[in-house]
Amino acid sequence: MIEIRNLSHQYGKIKALQNINLKIEAGKITSFLGPNGSGKSTLFKILATLLKPTSGEIHFFQTALLKDPHTIRRSIGVVFQSPSLDKKLTVFENMIHQGHLYGLSGTALSQKVKVLLEEFGVAQRQSSVVETLSGGLKRRVEIAKALLHDPKVLLFDEPGAGLDPGVRQDIWRFMKKLQREKQVTCLVTTHLMDEADQSDDVAILDEGHLIAYDTPYTLKQEIGGDVVHFTSTNLNLLKQNVEQTFKYPCEILGGELRLEIAHGEDVLPQLVKAFPTLIETAKLSKPTLEDVFMKRTGHGLRGERT
Ligand code: ADP
Ligand code: MG
Repeated sequence: MIEIRNLSHQYGKIKALQNINLKIEAGKITSFLGPNGSGKSTLFKILATLLKPTSGEIHFFQTALLKDPHTIRRSIGVVFQSPSLDKKLTVFENMIHQGHLYGLSGTALSQKVKVLLEEFGVAQRQSSVVETLSGGLKRRVEIAKALLHDPKVLLFDEPGAGLDPGVRQDIWRFMKKLQREKQVTCLVTTHLMDEADQSDDVAILDEGHLIAYDTPYTLKQEIGGDVVHFTSTNLNLLKQNVEQTFKYPCEILGGELRLEIAHGEDVLPQLVKAFPTLIETAKLSKPTLEDVFMKRTGHGLRGERT
């Protein structure tokens, strides 16, 4: 288990993390979901022992992170948001270098590299210079590299950033496989709710605060009903009208008007009928983690303030 207690971090006057308390179960995939600037990378760097927090404590299993970062470093694999491969070296050379950093060498190391490259589907490209690989392949090599020393915990900053959905799916499949077959605990930061949705637990961050922590299912359950999204030529007018006529609290978010209705409520046709010229499109959907985020913070995940 990983336990974070009263963790805070400030960069000068900027409060990047404010009194975070979390207990993360071993063997789970936990996402830290939050918009830009919510403190995800700061938390990631602290967990990776690269940044000393202003205050608080972290325990990885029985080891205190701040007292014994060396032990922690041996048990974690880290995949950074920005590429950490040497792009002028081949895939194989990058892997071997990483192995040397962890005191591995000889045939044991090259054997291990082969197995990992095979597992991540990059074995055929092992002699390619890294800069010739696509973004998705590079990401696979990054993960393979992070796993060379058999870490118990994998830290992953924004796995999906800059990758197209298919590649993102691949990365998540790999993570789930690691979890299933090697019981690796994965801690993942993301600003994408569809990624967070695939994890076992989600810790939602906003402006350095932990605002929710539970399974995606439980968090979405709290919304209760369904969510309606409208697009309109005049969102503000539509909002006023809906609020006045139907007494639904609405919010404008990401170019849409959004309101919650109870399950099974047949209100959508009535609304569309009531404002035929104002409503361009209407969409009824199940609540998402974005709805959870909005409910708790009053603003959207994508950074808009209403
Ligand atoms: P996220 O990864 O969620 O986008 P960060 O942890 O990078 O968030 O940033 C949290 C806050 O701390 C932001 O306000 C950011 O501007 C600030 N911040 C991050 N890194 C530094 C730094 N090295 N120096 C000063 N402020 C920083
Ligand atoms: Mg970040």
